Amino acid sequence: MKSEVHIIGAGLAGCCLARVAAENDCKVILYEAARHVGGICREKEKEGIRYHPLGPHVFHSHLKERTDFFKRFTDVVKYVQRTKTLVDVNGKTGYVPWPPTQESIEKLDELEPGIKQKILDEIAARPDELDMTNFETCVRTLVGDTLYELFIKNYTEKFWKVPATTLSSEWAPKRMDVRPNYDDRVFKDQIQFMPDYNKFFENVIDHPNIEVRYKHSMKKVDAYRLAEEGHIVVWTGNLDKLRDTDKLKYTGPTIHVELHKQEHYQDFPVVNYPNTTHDYHRITEYKKMTGQEHPWTVITKEYPGRSRMYPINTKETAAERERLVLELAREGKVIPYGRLGLYRYLDMHIVVGMGLYFGTIVGKWDKLSEDERVDACRKLLEIE
Ligand SMILES: Cc1cc2nc3c(=O)[nH]c(=O)nc-3n(C[C@H](O)[C@H](O)[C@H](O)COP(=O)(O)OP(=O)(O)OC[C@H]3O[C@@H](n4cnc5c(N)ncnc54)[C@H](O)[C@@H]3O)c2cc1C
Repeated sequence: MKSEVHIIGAGLAGCCLARVAAENDCKVILYEAARHVGGICREKEKEGIRYHPLGPHVFHSHLKERTDFFKRFTDVVKYVQRTKTLVDVNGKTGYVPWPPTQESIEKLDELEPGIKQKILDEIAARPDELDMTNFETCVRTLVGDTLYELFIKNYTEKFWKVPATTLSSEWAPKRMDVRPNYDDRVFKDQIQFMPDYNKFFENVIDHPNIEVRYKHSMKKVDAYRLAEEGHIVVWTGNLDKLRDTDKLKYTGPTIHVELHKQEHYQDFPVVNYPNTTHDYHRITEYKKMTGQEHPWTVITKEYPGRSRMYPINTKETAAERERLVLELAREGKVIPYGRLGLYRYLDMHIVVGMGLYFGTIVGKWDKLSEDERVDACRKLLEIE
């Protein structure tokens, strides 16, 4: 046995890291504050209908290695995410594909004849380079003013509860585009599916080198004590619980779960509501994602809220995140990890990729030089 690794938090990040480290001959102890593993990817059931209590999760990836790892532990059903947006053009509404495709533009033209040409002219006039000053400037130069106003501006400001001009442009080019064709998949990744998440978590931690301690909320002082005793300690809880700072900001929806005693609630799995006439910004109907059959249905409605689910990505928060993570790497005691520890929105396949990378070196953490630790943490901040 190489080393003992103590991982705080048994969400997707903690569990994947635990499994890879265990398969690399480490003894792993996972501490989880809740009664179960899985963090925010965990599923629940209402009247036997599966749903995602903290918002819809679709697995997608362009990398077979990550997908193969995930599929080793669970069953999946074929599912490709296709979302509609309820647009409102001068009082006329319609469901159109998101991100905007040629079909979206044609449907908008049915609502407001002439708008298609306006949109196409704006697209043709886009500058060669994106204006990366902030989220809004970037997306306006990416999709043009009309599509930005109809689909993105209100949704973004409803969701983040800050002006779009204060948000960083960093992730906009990865998530926002206007399709020059009829491809209405939300994610362009070749591989997309809907897994049974609870089965994944049950199986991924089922290894003789992994021990899980449930209902064990670890305090910073205890994490440091373990590190002082010479153990390797990984922290997937909030970065600002590990380091004093008031510069990291979060937002996240308030989610209402509803059981409806009818077979279908809406025509599509996911509908976005960018308009100010709706208090919520998204409705998800889970049977349409999991393929489950049932005479009733469960939906979630997401309202702008105050939960700490998403890090708010501005230039200031990004700089503070990097400063804190690299400071911890230099210190060499507790390792920040996962979406909360690294203060990073992480798609699930990236979390799997991190586990496949870091799980092979975490057992040697105490043997790494300061420069090697900094390089490793920098990679965790950048891995895509
Ligand atoms: C609303 C939403 C929708 C998403 N949809 C998608 C999607 O469709 N596709 C996709 O690829 N990704 C999606 N993601 C991203 C995905 O949820 C993350 O990749 C994943 O949750 C990261 O797992 P994690 O372990 O880092 O964090 P979490 O899931 O938050 O797990 C952290 C765990 O640590 C525990 N913990 C924290 N502090 C302590 C402590 N001090 N002591 C003990 N335990 C502790 C918590 O209880 C929790 O179980 C979505 C994210 C959100 C917020």
